[in-house]
Amino acid sequence: TYVIAQPCVDVKDKACVDECPVDCIYEGPRDLYINPDECVDCGACEPVCPVEAIFYEDDLPEDWAWYKDAAVDFFGQV
Ligand code: SF4
Repeated sequence: TYVIAQPCVDVKDKACVDECPVDCIYEGPRDLYINPDECVDCGACEPVCPVEAIFYEDDLPEDWAWYKDAAVDFFGQV
């Protein structure tokens, strides 16, 4: 899955939402979340993010690795 990290917080540009072919990017209180169960790893969202907040899960900077768990938690709360 791809993961949205810290640069999205309080930005929520949403350019990624328009690019996602499976509409798996959802709005949270302060940032956007990619649903890991729906993401097809196409990578279309990553280059359009104006603040470079989107990473393939294995490429997440160490400090932001927890954003992957945060996305799982976000979608698990429903
Ligand atoms: Fe959507 Fe593709 Fe980005 Fe996954 S990698 S969130 S499917 S645009």
